[in-house]
Amino acid sequence: MMSRMQYGSDYKKVPAYSMESGKTTEVLPDLCTYTNKIVNVHMVGHPDESRFVLVDAGLPDSADEIIKAVEARFGEGARPEAIILTHGHFDHVGSIIELIEKWDTPVYAHKIELPYLMGQEPYPDPDPTVEGGMMAKTASMFPKEPIDLGDNVQALPADGTVPHMPGFEWIHTPGHTDGHVSLYRSSDGTLIVGDAFVTVQQDSLYKVMAQKKEIQGPPVYFTTDWEAARASVEKLQSIKPNTAVFGHGKSLQDEELREGLERLVENFDEIALPSHGKYVDDEK
Ligand SMILES: [Zn+2]
Ligand SMILES: [Zn+2]
Repeated sequence: MMSRMQYGSDYKKVPAYSMESGKTTEVLPDLCTYTNKIVNVHMVGHPDESRFVLVDAGLPDSADEIIKAVEARFGEGARPEAIILTHGHFDHVGSIIELIEKWDTPVYAHKIELPYLMGQEPYPDPDPTVEGGMMAKTASMFPKEPIDLGDNVQALPADGTVPHMPGFEWIHTPGHTDGHVSLYRSSDGTLIVGDAFVTVQQDSLYKVMAQKKEIQGPPVYFTTDWEAARASVEKLQSIKPNTAVFGHGKSLQDEELREGLERLVENFDEIALPSHGKYVDDEK
């Protein structure tokens, strides 16, 4: 029996839009990204086989369009073997309850992230005073009460494997959230980054809308531990991925990815770190 689940009391549809909204992009034969307004949901698995996994679960009120995108790729009635969460921010779990109810599928996240997914703890307040204009200012309207998935969510295995994603391992990449993970397949260097770094500057409304392709640090308004965030980016750069997909923005490959990551690591303060804000001032 499914235990009772509920969204945070302040969950609501958020006004958001990007030019990529509603697009499905095949990045690799077995990796496909669906853009749900401003956030990406990834489908991992080859469409010729019926076994696949969903990574992250989009914005509030988006279950129907996510199901449609999944069925367009894997066929009518297709159901993922699991949903893996990179982290539990509202824009990554926004439609997960409807998806669990529809598919009765297990959900996994890092064990440190579980209190935020089981209604036990809210994330630290996002920082509306952080520099970065529009998005940071509207961020105070974003839902922040914790979702409660009850025992429908469980910890990723301690041995680093990812259930139903053979060949992938999870890598703990804290900073944006404490229990943030990225997923990596070493056989071909495929990296599902989550929000550890992104390719769109979340703080420029124009760039969010245009989905300009440019490596940035993690979205600033929700990132609360910048030293950890920096270490996570360094960790991901050191594995030298060939292909990367993100929670926000377009995918990157090969030289463009490696050069962009190198630039981010070398210039993390300039590119990623906000010049002021309550989570950066203590650090400086
Ligand atoms: Zn996030
Ligand atoms: Zn996000």
